[in-house]
Amino acid sequence: MAIYNPKSKTAEEFINHEEILDTLDYAEKNKSNAEVIDKVLEKARLKKGLTHREAAILLDCDIPEKNAEIFALAEQIKKDYYGNRIVLFAPLYLSNYCVNSCVYCPYHIKNKNISRKKLTQEEIRREVIALQDMGHKRLALETGEDPVHNPIEYVLESIETIYGIKHRNGAIRRVNVNIAATTVENYRRLRDAGIGTYILFQETYHKESYLKLHPAGPKHDYDYHTEAMDRAMEGGIDDVGCGVLFGLELYRYEFAGLLMHAEHLEAVYGVGPHTISVPRIRRADDIDPSTFDNGIDDDTFAKIVACIRIAVPYTGMIVSTRESRKVRERVLHLGVSQISGGSRTSVGGYAEEEEPEDNSAQFDVSDTRTLDQIVNWLMKMDYIPSFCTACYREGRTGDRFMALCKNMQILNCCHPNALMTLKEYLGDYASEDTRNVGLKLIEKELLNVPNEKVRNICAENLMKISEGSRDFRF
Ligand code: SF4
Ligand code: SF4
Repeated sequence: MAIYNPKSKTAEEFINHEEILDTLDYAEKNKSNAEVIDKVLEKARLKKGLTHREAAILLDCDIPEKNAEIFALAEQIKKDYYGNRIVLFAPLYLSNYCVNSCVYCPYHIKNKNISRKKLTQEEIRREVIALQDMGHKRLALETGEDPVHNPIEYVLESIETIYGIKHRNGAIRRVNVNIAATTVENYRRLRDAGIGTYILFQETYHKESYLKLHPAGPKHDYDYHTEAMDRAMEGGIDDVGCGVLFGLELYRYEFAGLLMHAEHLEAVYGVGPHTISVPRIRRADDIDPSTFDNGIDDDTFAKIVACIRIAVPYTGMIVSTRESRKVRERVLHLGVSQISGGSRTSVGGYAEEEEPEDNSAQFDVSDTRTLDQIVNWLMKMDYIPSFCTACYREGRTGDRFMALCKNMQILNCCHPNALMTLKEYLGDYASEDTRNVGLKLIEKELLNVPNEKVRNICAENLMKISEGSRDFRF
């Protein structure tokens, strides 16, 4: 039997089934124990994070007053670490060819219903220009796993194409990459291509379920998949993004696994995950979410977001357009720091007027608003939409980033960068109403830049942006 060891690089030791079962048992036994919960909350108020065991107790807690404290603390931590900024990005689907058999994804190899597509470099240009014309600066690349159609060379060439496109004032300044688990050598090549975060969802940490949910194809190898972040870090990628697909397994199990993964990365590499994503299973071509037994309701989803926020305050949290406007509004308060907007989840969807009806989408989008509507909506709720990509371009990645983040110095960069990139967006892409709302917001928020020198430089740069200059950053 494998023994739990966060420092081990063996999947079954750092994500240890027995340790998760013990954790869930411990949490279940203490879910009504106010004394134990208070102790955990006391530690959580230091805003330095919690262990998976401690966080599991908060997740299970069934005392209403304590739950109110948990939600209030998550909101406070969100404000302290991220202020009122929300970073925006869009997914870009390059290819839906895939040799895997994931039972929850319509791209699985046996689906003969779906149109298979792979973008040429020219089609990528068209997609990226459409994304730039919406105002996006940060993309997440997505492809299925297929060594023939989507080899690493194709991904690398596509990244080069994307970074090379300068259309009007547009530029994609950060390309995050969500591709299948691969070798250290390939991760090194992705690093050399200048990717931002390498994102790979674990889908489920429960090995037995994992093997059933991925019955064939290279992704069937649980250990290889689970150890991917280790190889990515060995390949020199500093920023990795974790996530599970909620609905596949019991959420309490996934929650503990996710935090153990973060603890492992921290223990071995000194840097936890840069981001955590919290997707829930959605309807798609031949996928019916109701066939999965472990769906979670909106209240549970909110609690998970709040508890992740408390457990890993320094890790960005992402929700996509899988979630409705209503749900996104709720979880933005509780800890989410990045959202996608104006997304198309089909291959080649952005260059079309409407999402193509060729069923090439990976999932049905729930929040179908345009990026302008999303920016407008965020600002009307007093959030600052941010198109900032400064950190990785300034070399603030991995432990350098985490050190600044953990002592909250990063706020001196995030806030002015958000204002400057928003100003660029308003000048180049916004509707009139959005521009008016945004200019007022910038005026107000400039006063909230704490450091006087930074505030003055920011004010000067904002003027220069009005005159046509671009790409300032702290
Ligand atoms: S989840 Fe990824 S690996 Fe699995 S079938 Fe879909 S695209 Fe392929
Ligand atoms: S300054 Fe860094 S951490 Fe802050 S929003 Fe920009 S890229 Fe993100």
